[in-house]
Amino acid sequence: HRAPQPDPEAGAAVKAADRAHVFHSWSAQDLIDPPAVAGAEGSYFWDYDGRRYLDFSSGLVFTNIGYQHPKVVAAIQEQAATLATFAPAFAVEARSEAARLIAERTPGDLDKIFFTNGGADAVEHAIRMARLHTGRPKVLSAYRSYHGGTQQAVNITGDPRRWASDDGAAGVVHFWAPYLYRSRFYAQTEEEECARALEHLETTIAFEGPATIAALILETVPGTAGIMVPPPGYLAGVRALCDKYGIVFVLDEVMAGFGRTGEWFAADLSGVVPDLMTFAKGVNSGYVPLGGVAISGEIAETFGKRPYPGGLTYSGHPLACAAAVATINVMAEEGVVENARRLGAEVVGPALRELAERHPSVGEVRGTGMFWALELVKNRETREPLVPYNAAGAANGPMAAFGAAAKAHGLWPFINMNRTHVVPPCTVTEAELKEGFAALDAALSVADEHTE
Ligand code: PLP
Repeated sequence: HRAPQPDPEAGAAVKAADRAHVFHSWSAQDLIDPPAVAGAEGSYFWDYDGRRYLDFSSGLVFTNIGYQHPKVVAAIQEQAATLATFAPAFAVEARSEAARLIAERTPGDLDKIFFTNGGADAVEHAIRMARLHTGRPKVLSAYRSYHGGTQQAVNITGDPRRWASDDGAAGVVHFWAPYLYRSRFYAQTEEEECARALEHLETTIAFEGPATIAALILETVPGTAGIMVPPPGYLAGVRALCDKYGIVFVLDEVMAGFGRTGEWFAADLSGVVPDLMTFAKGVNSGYVPLGGVAISGEIAETFGKRPYPGGLTYSGHPLACAAAVATINVMAEEGVVENARRLGAEVVGPALRELAERHPSVGEVRGTGMFWALELVKNRETREPLVPYNAAGAANGPMAAFGAAAKAHGLWPFINMNRTHVVPPCTVTEAELKEGFAALDAALSVADEHTE
């Protein structure tokens, strides 16, 4: 990877305009200091001061093929030169081909693709389709989930960010999906946790009234909330409950899809086929905003003679779809999914378990493919989380110290609450992973100082 040319003056100008005019997501605007990025390639990006980082976060877990893949960049350029944009009510080559390639890979009969601009609006439309298909109002969703930042999606989300914008009237009911590490007073094994979660879910359905529930939405593997790979049998059990009560089963693969788990879709890990599946991020590695809903034959038929009352100006935008076609072809040609599966099993899992043995701050290691989490704790016995922030905010807590140490060693980590997720591009090499684990080793030593 070529060394970046430092240009601190240009970096200062980028930062000044950002600070003056850009309003950032999920942040208190005066308390943040967004780094200025000068460029990126493959698994790395660099700033204007000449510092280069190995990106173990894949942006927001979306650059599954890394940054600036030449074939995808060329496909976007070519599409821009021939047909940069066109309205959604027309058949356009890039859109048709992207839909065909996606439908070819989605499980079961999820063969119709409704394109959106990203993940949250894919979730919005999946829920709307389910409500119209069933004529029922409610949605069941898991605590410890993330489904997007728009109004309905954030209400469905099961993390504390929902609290600020929950309208309390959306007909959303949350349930407690499998999370063995934090269910230990109820279950000791994956099998027990699976049984607990399914029994709890069926009870919830009974109390809510099955005939009032339109959809049940789950991340196939919950991502942002902590990468809890569901125990064997759980998703099949949920599928059976949805069938029993006529509930539309929606799997959200926005983060877990397109190679992240070492399969094209995380649903392939269990063979469970949902009625609707949302995707975004990895579909084109985030080079141009794109998301969508893959729709089963039965639900597509509901809107065969009756119009679907929903749409987006940029649904299936040609630039985004051309990027998706190129990305999917690159993934197939370069064995990207197989790379994530093999290196995840042979390198990442063993390396993280080895780190956990030496670092008392690591409470649990879990994951699959290029989708891993380290749960950091103050105390392994009590499992008390290594608190994310101290009273003064994000800048000074132990997780911030851990993050700063990782960055000082050239690693850009993904941090959420008391967890760090190891989610590099699915194209990452073994040498890059080893470089990242050396930095992680050093950063965990800083986290260890906060254990008791
Ligand atoms: N669903 C899941 C599972 C996600 O992880 C995300 C984003 O992280 C979303 C939905 C929302 O996607 P977007 O940010 O593209 O709207």
